[in-house]
Amino acid sequence: MSDTIFDKIIRREIPADIVYEDEQALAFRDVNPQAPVHILIIPKKSIATINDLQPEDEVLVGHLFTVAARLAADMGFAEAGYRTVMNCNADGGQTVFHLHLHLLAGRALTWPPG
Ligand code: 5GP
Repeated sequence: MSDTIFDKIIRREIPADIVYEDEQALAFRDVNPQAPVHILIIPKKSIATINDLQPEDEVLVGHLFTVAARLAADMGFAEAGYRTVMNCNADGGQTVFHLHLHLLAGRALTWPPG
């Protein structure tokens, strides 16, 4: 079983600034924020990358986006806008191999990403 830094955050073995939690998901502030708001939304289930998703994970992945929209509404930036990003493997820039959705907000974000 893979054991990443995010699994340790789920188990409360290392600290994190947690902003949302339910039975399936956890959301906490990124330790190295790339925007005024930078939150990571993760499933509690251990899934390494997008490539590892199974058909039974479809509802879970949808839930991560529902959590993002809820946080955007609750934190007041839903109308201004925000970005969600899920990186995959080396060329995608993935560094932690536990699935996570980045939620970035608080400034006008540029495109394309680097
Ligand atoms: P990735 O590059 O895999 O898409 O994103 C991983 C993210 O996790 C990075 O933005 C990085 O700053 C963040 N990160 C890495 N280690 C920790 C940690 O221990 N705590 C928190 N809160 N974020 C982390």
